[in-house]
Amino acid sequence: MKKVLVLAALIGACISAQAQEQVTSPDGHIKVNVALTDGVPNYSVILDNDTMICKSPLGVKTNMADFTKDIKNVKFIETKEVKESYSLPNVKIKDISYTANEATWLFYNDDEKRPAFAVTMHVDNSNVAFKYDIKAQRDRKSCVVDSEATSYVFPEGTTTFLCPQMTPQTGFARTAPSYETFYDYDAPMGKNGHGRGYTYPALFRVGDKGWVMLNETNIGGNYCGSRIETSGERSYAIKYPEMTEFGGIGSSAPGLMLDGKNGEVAHAETPWRTITIGRTLKPIAETTIQWDLVKPQYEAKYDYKYGRSAWSWIIRMDASCNYDEQKEYVDFAANMGWEYLLVDALWDTNIGYERMEQLSKYAQSKGVNLFLWYNSNGYWNDAPQGPRGKMHRMIDRRKEMAWMQKAGIKGIKVDFVGSDKQQTMQMYEDILADANEYGIMVIFHGCTLQRGWERMYPNFISCEAVRASENLAFGQNDNNIEALAGTIHPILRNAVGNMDFGGSALNKHYSKNNQRGTERKTSDVYALATAILFQTPVQNFAVAPNNITDAPAWAIDFMKAVPTTWENMRFIDGYPGKYVVMARQHEGKWYIAAINAEDKPLTLYINLLNYFEVGDIVNIYSDDANLQGSVKSTTNKVAKKAIKVVVPKNGGLVIK
Ligand code: CA
Repeated sequence: MKKVLVLAALIGACISAQAQEQVTSPDGHIKVNVALTDGVPNYSVILDNDTMICKSPLGVKTNMADFTKDIKNVKFIETKEVKESYSLPNVKIKDISYTANEATWLFYNDDEKRPAFAVTMHVDNSNVAFKYDIKAQRDRKSCVVDSEATSYVFPEGTTTFLCPQMTPQTGFARTAPSYETFYDYDAPMGKNGHGRGYTYPALFRVGDKGWVMLNETNIGGNYCGSRIETSGERSYAIKYPEMTEFGGIGSSAPGLMLDGKNGEVAHAETPWRTITIGRTLKPIAETTIQWDLVKPQYEAKYDYKYGRSAWSWIIRMDASCNYDEQKEYVDFAANMGWEYLLVDALWDTNIGYERMEQLSKYAQSKGVNLFLWYNSNGYWNDAPQGPRGKMHRMIDRRKEMAWMQKAGIKGIKVDFVGSDKQQTMQMYEDILADANEYGIMVIFHGCTLQRGWERMYPNFISCEAVRASENLAFGQNDNNIEALAGTIHPILRNAVGNMDFGGSALNKHYSKNNQRGTERKTSDVYALATAILFQTPVQNFAVAPNNITDAPAWAIDFMKAVPTTWENMRFIDGYPGKYVVMARQHEGKWYIAAINAEDKPLTLYINLLNYFEVGDIVNIYSDDANLQGSVKSTTNKVAKKAIKVVVPKNGGLVIK
């Protein structure tokens, strides 16, 4: 007994000697304070002298012990510098490097005898990320994390750009939630979406002080995805999936394997929660924190090739999924010089496996490769489209993928996988890992948001996780506000990962004859601009065969040549819900793109010398006041530094 007391006293001395409450970014602008107040661990984030996240609780409640309150002590462990350079050919920036300071604190709940958990804060010049390291209590080798105290408290006057969580078991055939609601723009705090909070990425405008984006990363089968719920006037707390998700199957809370090497206490880390901070939106749109903090989970077994893809479903819907029309689309893709055709739902019955092999062979003879649609089901919703029952169990899945490989199929689009439960995350990971064995790239639809997957799984292409182009075909309202929604995606949704939007339609109407159906309100130049602004390495474009003759030749020529992979990007200007101006670079060549959703025309002054050399031929695609597009080519002259361009409402701009 005496011995224990002496030891406790020693640790106590250690704590006061090592007290440190703060870690700063390498450039010194961002400061994170970590403290223990009345038994509650907490943190705050400061940008220069402005509080961006107020004092907010930390901690987890596990089935071993409650680590959210009555914490007895905190001990600072260390700060270290972490640096890394890596290359990702499938995201918005190819060569990525970062330097950050990482500081770790240990929290004790039981008189210093055994730590409860550690918190590590990773702070670079525009991001703060943190994770818990949960320590085994008694001799436990596993635990369930029932809930978290983790919260984000914002300063008064902060406004929000948030996407409400969908109600589980609602939507088409009980497939929700799948991140497909409209964002609210500049809305006050205090609401709670449709009653169950909001999905990531979540954007906050801290008055005139700047912007904060919340997200999380490094989640596969190791954990569940989370969301945020309003937990006070200015507070948002992390919540785990509702039990009703995924047909009510699986668990709400994540489980962790606790492991310790060389006699250390068994422990396990939770995913990183990320906070991206900027005076402007530039650090938000350009962040790579979701990839900085993950590692590849396996090597690419094949050399995956990215490219442009035709897709009949968005214009011609289910009826087009027959051999003749898919063959027509193969010819169209070949004519466009595109690499892929996505054959959507119902091909298993309307075309069949044997004729699909023929279609694939025909496509390959034209230099086009196929992606095939799959229903993820399964036993968790009622989505009826086939093929069903091929993706959710390993034996069936591997058999199907072996067939795909034999038939020369290069990718799949797996749909109706709504839910953030750990079991669902495990299924996403299993599909990706199996697909890699057969050289198959994977797009998910009706799904969660990826959390670092572009780097974790090298054959992962994209998630939908956005109110995507299908809604433009389904209803007129989405068309009426297409540009409004379009201005937020490049800044927010696409900032955290590849986005399968399926856009750039050149039809006036979403129908095969281009007369009936919902009416597109955006211009043709808008369609070209979003081919640049919306980023994913395999783009399913909504351009249709009839556009070869009924769309402007300059628009078709542009879409024939548009790249889908980029080495760099620059956020130039924008405001979610109003307008966005961005540049992306492909093989050394810059593409500047803008769209405008505001009633008043957007006037831009763009300094071409920031992107082009003197003497370069520069092509400017722009709209007149009636949204009639045209392209002008000029030779960049040194004397004419900034050019003035006007983007009307629902219009676009591309300079390349
Ligand atoms: Ca969808």
